[in-house]
Amino acid sequence: MNYLKSLSLLFIVFSSVNVLPAKIRVLLIDGQNNHNWKATTPVMVDILESSGSFKVTVSTSPPKKSEAAAWAKWNPKFNSYAVTVSNYNGEMWPKEVQDNLTNYVKGGGSFVVVHAANNAFGQWKEYNQMIGLGGWGGRNEKSGPYLFYNDLGKLVRDPRPGRGGSHGPQSEFIVQVRDFKHSITKGMPQKWLHSKDELYDSLRGPAEKVKILATAYSEKSKKHEPMIMTISYGKGRVFHTPMGHADYSMKCIGFQEVLRRGTEWAATGQVTSELPLDFPTERKVSSQ
Ligand SMILES: [Zn+2]
Repeated sequence: MNYLKSLSLLFIVFSSVNVLPAKIRVLLIDGQNNHNWKATTPVMVDILESSGSFKVTVSTSPPKKSEAAAWAKWNPKFNSYAVTVSNYNGEMWPKEVQDNLTNYVKGGGSFVVVHAANNAFGQWKEYNQMIGLGGWGGRNEKSGPYLFYNDLGKLVRDPRPGRGGSHGPQSEFIVQVRDFKHSITKGMPQKWLHSKDELYDSLRGPAEKVKILATAYSEKSKKHEPMIMTISYGKGRVFHTPMGHADYSMKCIGFQEVLRRGTEWAATGQVTSELPLDFPTERKVSSQ
């Protein structure tokens, strides 16, 4: 190949690289969970990266009962990422890491909470403000109200005493969209059938600046429980879904689209992904 030819080829390569939109940099935190995080993290990474819009870096915390020296070496650089996704439910982080996450989100960072990540850190005030609602971890009326829709379609904040967090046996269940204007739920069928999962009920927390975009009716609590939520915290955007108990729950095309859209929305404030043609319907689950 002559010099001019190779130069123009180089030019073509570089200009095509330049026109590709930059991928959203995602930090995914795992390392401790009462769920099988070693099975779910790769599924979550694949859901995000297969869309072509995200580049995910996984940061794994030290295991349970680690020495302080191991924790001292773990210090995720939240600020280097457009969005942080938590698949973590375990021991409290060192104070410096807690403060780094709080300041990152407060200052305009983005955070995504999936399933048992909302069990973590029952006593960490700022974390609970970020996630809006949580379960277990000693949560009760002191954590804040229950938040749900009643049968009349009314949003209820219920301060009554009681524990936070519960679920019945795993099953498929209907997700009902409550907000069709939000870019995360835009275009979704009003009701769609989610693959086998745990339906969290009776979550409670500060519930400040929470927007519920979709709910699911719990046979256990007899309430319409929040399934897709956004929370605003400081200048930051938080996306929270209590769905995603196991790898098989995450194979649901509906869950996958919710995770992709929620993560993109948290990172950029908008959603560019189109609803897949095989999105579940009210009567039919759709799994990968
Ligand atoms: Zn679970």
